[in-house]
Amino acid sequence: MTNRPPEPILHVDLDAFYASVEVLKDPALAGKPVVVGGAGTRGVVMSASYEARAYGIRSAMPAVRARRLCPDAAFVPPDFESYKAHSNRFREVLRSVTPLVEPIALDEAFLDVGGAGLLFGEPEGIARRIREEVAREVGVTCSVGVAPSKLVAKLASTRAKPDGLIHVQADGVPAFMEPLPVDALWGVGEVTGELLRRLGVRTVGDLARTPEGVLERLLGDVTARTLSELARGIDDRPVVPYEAPKSISHEETFGRDLDDQGALLREVLSLSHKVAARLREDGYRARTVVLKARLANFTTLTRSRTLPDPTDVGADIFHVAGDLLRSLPGARRRFRLLGVQATGLVPAGAEQLALLRGERWSDVERALDRIDRRFGTGSAMPAALLKPRGRRSR
Ligand SMILES: [Mg+2]
Repeated sequence: MTNRPPEPILHVDLDAFYASVEVLKDPALAGKPVVVGGAGTRGVVMSASYEARAYGIRSAMPAVRARRLCPDAAFVPPDFESYKAHSNRFREVLRSVTPLVEPIALDEAFLDVGGAGLLFGEPEGIARRIREEVAREVGVTCSVGVAPSKLVAKLASTRAKPDGLIHVQADGVPAFMEPLPVDALWGVGEVTGELLRRLGVRTVGDLARTPEGVLERLLGDVTARTLSELARGIDDRPVVPYEAPKSISHEETFGRDLDDQGALLREVLSLSHKVAARLREDGYRARTVVLKARLANFTTLTRSRTLPDPTDVGADIFHVAGDLLRSLPGARRRFRLLGVQATGLVPAGAEQLALLRGERWSDVERALDRIDRRFGTGSAMPAALLKPRGRRSR
């Protein structure tokens, strides 16, 4: 690793991600203007296919305006379940190259391939390989920027869109950056952009040439220094890999020790569903279910069982956790705490893509997630949880 390549950072960004997934789901949309979001009159555009962009439609544009620009576009409601599944697959492809992957959205990530060179070749070759594999495995094209820093890699992938690759060599950074508009830089929003334009600063090159003292009077010293550095391509932020969680758990300490078997099982049921909802939200399935029980005398017991197939379904988790509770030695013990933990997590990637087409229980619980999201947690729950609480305490 002593000869770390001078341009080790990759920014990988899926092209028109939501719209592209909708085309995968319904091939009849291929080649047509597709707009995700914008249902009703007050919505905004969340994603637009390149065919829709040709009409001037852009993300975050009010739907009303998009409909005026292209009345014949297909307006599709968002399907985050599906986007998440494709995103998981995308991240798996990236992690097959290096563990140093920092996802920054469902459809984009930074990679540090400085240490992957020995295995997979030079960064540009790695970028080409990723583009091929993402297209094959995810079914969506991506654009990649290869550069010495995160900032330049991100700007390069944006410039490479759609379906392209740009490698900015270390000594080519000023030539690449200078012609870009200032608002291409992070931290330059509408207000700062307008202040800079009044000063005659329109491009990144203009900004790089403006004395820092002038910028300080205009923007304050912190912003001035940051922008001045970014304009010269100085950005030494490292790629911070996202570590997948090892487990997901919920536990409940009771106000009063519980000994009623029905009440205890209702607790386990509720905890199982909370754990399952978190698994689905984070895009994982669990191989192993762990039940934790603390007795009134503070002894803690844990029991676990591994499932034949990984799951993110509350009913499956409860089936095991409830069994584990019933199998604890000594009847009619008093408990002060119960916990349900899911471990042996696997990303719900390709597997989940298949699952989206079937499996009844999962579908039911996903529908419950959506109701919970709309009306608040606990609006929808299995009937057993609605029974009189008895001695259940919170
Ligand atoms: Mg994108």
